[in-house]
Amino acid sequence: TSFGYKEVSEEEKSKLVGNVFNSVASSYDLMNDLMSGGLHRLWKDRLVSKLHPFPGMKHLDVAGGTGDVAFRILDKIKSLRHSARQGGLDNFNEETKIYICDINPNMLNFGKKRAIEQGLCEEQSLVWVEGDAEALKFQADSMDGYTIAFGIRNVTHIENVLSEAHRVLKRGGRFLCLELSHVEQPLFKQIYDYYSFKVIPAIGELVAGDKESYQYLVESIRRFPNQDTLARMIADTGFQKVEYENLVGGVVAIHSAVKW
Ligand code: SAM
Repeated sequence: TSFGYKEVSEEEKSKLVGNVFNSVASSYDLMNDLMSGGLHRLWKDRLVSKLHPFPGMKHLDVAGGTGDVAFRILDKIKSLRHSARQGGLDNFNEETKIYICDINPNMLNFGKKRAIEQGLCEEQSLVWVEGDAEALKFQADSMDGYTIAFGIRNVTHIENVLSEAHRVLKRGGRFLCLELSHVEQPLFKQIYDYYSFKVIPAIGELVAGDKESYQYLVESIRRFPNQDTLARMIADTGFQKVEYENLVGGVVAIHSAVKW
């Protein structure tokens, strides 16, 4: 296929991906922490700091079922509002809306549950929407920001996700994608390969009782386009100012771009 992205059959893919998210929805946080050594929290913080959220913004977080990214955006906006109020500057009339879109209703329910646990059940800014990243239900030119964290790797057609992101963003709107990516440095790559092919499936088996799905996750990282290829795909979609930042030597990368 295009961009050298080898595809698993669509049926197989959604089965495996579905398995992972159904079987571990409850142990999801634990798995993320175990597999990343807690680093996914810092990576998500970095993603949100690159977004530069602002009060009144309309934001779409795709594949966001856990709420992890959305809660961080909301936190940041609340603290901006708080400081503005202290400075006597609370003249933000526009209502903030953070749409959390996910294809899996279980993940959305999981996120909603966490929102309640965090005391956000009355929160009007959060809107939970079931939907496919490849065919968004949102209007064109309607969003100030778009994020997708650990979501683009498992979709069927990355190109569709990118063109939908481009469509829903307003001019000047920011696109940000956080994803497991490719390590280049040879020695670090050896260690990382060992970790991902041996340790991750073992943790998967131990904690979630599901070695195969985690093996699949690791293979899907290898098949995913590398940093430069993904950057080119984003630029080919029509985005401007396409950049990426590697974290932990490329274990993850944050791609960013602007719709102009
Ligand atoms: N963004 C969250 C985070 O970082 O914690 C969740 C990441 S989780 C690894 C991937 C999510 O992508 C799952 O919730 C899954 O349901 C969702 N997903 C998979 N394919 C999707 C699609 N085509 N459209 C929207 N969401 C999708």
